[in-house]
Amino acid sequence: MKRFTHNNDEFVCEVCGAKNPPAVKTCRNHCYKCLCSKHVDINPGDRAATCHGVLNPIGIDLKGDGTMDRIVFKCKTCNQVSRNKIAEDDDRDALFEVFGKQLIA
Ligand SMILES: [Zn+2]
Ligand SMILES: [Zn+2]
Repeated sequence: MKRFTHNNDEFVCEVCGAKNPPAVKTCRNHCYKCLCSKHVDINPGDRAATCHGVLNPIGIDLKGDGTMDRIVFKCKTCNQVSRNKIAEDDDRDALFEVFGKQLIA
């Protein structure tokens, strides 16, 4: 079984193949490049989900001041929606692309 590492180790994204270095301040839980994640948690960090489907970014939550706060994910396999905090080194273009799609939807 392929392991999408959600602790703070370096990992290679199984969706886009980008090599993700360990996160600086936070626990990396999604690819910095394509923003995809994997359905392994029921509650953040618990690794209790048995789904293991790919989580596609479908939107961005904003803070009260209008800055981007969290990525909204939807699981390709079970359609469950979840959210994860944006990391400092997430690809800004990818974030804006998701945000743009959200506005259209
Ligand atoms: Zn990726
Ligand atoms: Zn799922």
